[in-house]
Amino acid sequence: MTENISILGSTGSIGTQTLRVCELLNIKVSALTANSNIDLLEEQVRKFRPALAVMGTEEKANELKLRISDTDTKVSFGLDGLCEAAAIDGADTVLTAVVGMIGLKPTLTAISAKKNIALANKETLVAGGSLVMKSAEENGVKIYPVDSEHSAIFQCLQGCPDRKALKRLILTASGGPFFGRSSEELKNVTVEQALKHPNWSMGAKITIDSASMMNKGLEIIEAKWLFDVPVDRIDVVVHRESIVHSMIEYTDNSVIAQMGVPDMKIPIQYALTYPERIECDVPQLDLTKLSSLTFFEPDYDTFKCLRACRKAIETGKTAPVLVNGANEEAVRLFLDRKISFTDIGDLIFESMSAVPLKEITSLQDILDADIAARNFVKSSVSSV
Ligand code: NAD
Ligand code: MG
Repeated sequence: MTENISILGSTGSIGTQTLRVCELLNIKVSALTANSNIDLLEEQVRKFRPALAVMGTEEKANELKLRISDTDTKVSFGLDGLCEAAAIDGADTVLTAVVGMIGLKPTLTAISAKKNIALANKETLVAGGSLVMKSAEENGVKIYPVDSEHSAIFQCLQGCPDRKALKRLILTASGGPFFGRSSEELKNVTVEQALKHPNWSMGAKITIDSASMMNKGLEIIEAKWLFDVPVDRIDVVVHRESIVHSMIEYTDNSVIAQMGVPDMKIPIQYALTYPERIECDVPQLDLTKLSSLTFFEPDYDTFKCLRACRKAIETGKTAPVLVNGANEEAVRLFLDRKISFTDIGDLIFESMSAVPLKEITSLQDILDADIAARNFVKSSVSSV
């Protein structure tokens, strides 16, 4: 069980819920990081007294330093600061809850420093799964999933000592706000409509990814790396109620599901207390209050992003890096109202065919492919 934690991205949706769990379980906090939310980071520093606090820029770091000069907390900034937080003395676990590929280097740094990882930052595994899993094995550290679907599978797998008996993983997807819509109907959806998730309250990027179903595509790739299961044995079903968080099927066709109210504190806490289970600050699931649980085939034609992720992981090499990088850039442009919702999927496919694929042999290969995909998206949009 985690006794001392460093949280990368502590001011976000996952970060703040993690701090709530830490408070209830008396987990000591050694480092906290934020990109720009200085007010909240100051509040968190005063409450949890970490040894280190990190801001996105030097300017913000200087401001925080002034504000908390009465505390013993050291202040750093930028990617180097994130890596410092990832390797900080004393922490046994690093919870990665920053958004995007920016989390890759800090995650690798934490693993080299022999920290266990509680992983929410899925983009890191999508882009760097091969390096991250190899390094975790070499350094003898564990990667515990925080993503609710992967936590569900991890929980279901506890009853499966013989992995040969595992037939397939079944990831559930809420379907997001645009379930049942046609491609034509998706063309003109607004940022506000895309930001309205039916069941979960999350950061803006993952909420858009849920609306486009990119999130589920990223999760297929995340599952492949976490559980070492070939992608043709990872299925997706749309489950509107978000009560069954995912399932596994055995060779005898027995299916094990993990259920609970949709509240991220359950998977966050399990990643920190594994293998123990402790009382959690979430409501009990009352099955008699649910009118039904429904399951549907996902629409791979309309939700292109989901299809793109499958294609990318089947293609291998740097293809998953490209789809992830193109998506990060496209989502930013959509949120800035520079492109339409359906442009996101188009740009992802275009970048996969425009940017040459390479084998991944180092972190640099991943960083280069990521930049190439982002540049492709930026130049396609500015040239329109
Ligand atoms: P969020 O936007 O609410 O929070 C992101 C955090 O990362 C903030 O603390 C922010 O300051 C920091 N951050 C953002 N960009 C940064 C940068 N460039 N440099 C340094 N720090 C930066 O996001 P979230 O919803 O908490 O999601 C975090 C991660 O967890 C994502 O990878 C997401 O896919 C994953 N995740 C989230 C949920 C959820 O319920 N929110 C569920 C499963 C997985
Ligand atoms: Mg998820």
